[in-house]
Amino acid sequence: MSHRIAVVGAGVIGLSIAHELAAAGSDVTVLTDAEPLETTSAVAGAVWFPYAAEHSPAVDAMLGASLRRFRAVADDPDAGVDIRSGIIIERTPTPDRAWTAWAEASPADPSELPAGATGMRTRVPLATMSQYLPWLQAQCEALGARIERRVVDDVDALARDFDTAVVAAGARGGELLGDDDTVVPIRGQVVRVANPGFWEFRIDDDAPGGLAYVLPRRDCLVLGGTHEAGQTSLEPDPEIEAAIIERCTALVPAIAGQPILSRAVGLRPGRERLRIEEVPGRALRVIAAYGHGGSGMTLSWGTAERVTSLVSPR
Ligand SMILES: Cc1cc2nc3c(=O)[nH]c(=O)nc-3n(C[C@H](O)[C@H](O)[C@H](O)COP(=O)(O)OP(=O)(O)OC[C@H]3O[C@@H](n4cnc5c(N)ncnc54)[C@H](O)[C@@H]3O)c2cc1C
Repeated sequence: MSHRIAVVGAGVIGLSIAHELAAAGSDVTVLTDAEPLETTSAVAGAVWFPYAAEHSPAVDAMLGASLRRFRAVADDPDAGVDIRSGIIIERTPTPDRAWTAWAEASPADPSELPAGATGMRTRVPLATMSQYLPWLQAQCEALGARIERRVVDDVDALARDFDTAVVAAGARGGELLGDDDTVVPIRGQVVRVANPGFWEFRIDDDAPGGLAYVLPRRDCLVLGGTHEAGQTSLEPDPEIEAAIIERCTALVPAIAGQPILSRAVGLRPGRERLRIEEVPGRALRVIAAYGHGGSGMTLSWGTAERVTSLVSPR
């Protein structure tokens, strides 16, 4: 009998893991209490760029692995992943450019930058999550994985039907495993507006007044954002939204007056360190895979490859 694996979670992390495990020949069932398009992952911008997640050699290697995979995925027009050009705006004297080890970048033209800022122009993958997550789900299913809508409240009870459980439950991963209270939800609010024809991205982490980014999805421009550690309200706040639009319009004046298409809030799974490890002392083999903060899409394929290498030696 093949190795029966339950993956708890159908966000970008759970689905990417399910894909890799199914491709490696395992019998995979994804258990999720929300549809992929109802997850935090569906709220993400979602651009390949490290933000608010562990910074270490191990995680850096996963950045590179994910970038390589997303570049290949972008060859399939149905996947909803595009390689987009854009600018990372910098407002500190010694900006962290470690990411340029993987993505080619060159100094941005000063005429494209806010006064006093520097910046790097680069080309990286950007996923239209409303298209990418259903595509990824379909890829998993084509490889034989099943997606089952179910609340999991006891990981050990999965031992009845599975040999291994992978917990990819995002901001609820620690609570579900019951041995980790270090996950901090980081609230992120976005507003999606009609695209006036601007197909580049802008990311300005240290903009006056707060985080500002403009991300061209295929169906809208995603404007963000906020970084509110410990805040869990999923209601979009109109004052915050107005401030986001103001900051983003300062970056891309063509946004002014564009119709609002939708608004959303997500809770990033904040954790000082990414948790990808075997959890000892359980009724079945359990692997934790959560804590990606603001970099879940960015680290997704690297995470999936690492989890698969943890599972496969058996
Ligand atoms: C506004 C915003 C913008 C962002 N932009 C970017 C970006 O541009 N690039 C980037 O890389 N990242 C971005 N992120 C971060 C990214 O969204 C997260 O890191 C990522 O979604 C985490 O994915 P996940 O699969 O771990 O969690 P989630 O997407 O939250 O999925 C968790 C899954 O677990 C399931 N689950 C949880 N508990 C249980 C249970 N007990 N039983 C059954 N199922 C359960 C849920 O139903 C869900 O399916 C952004 C986040 C926000 C909020």
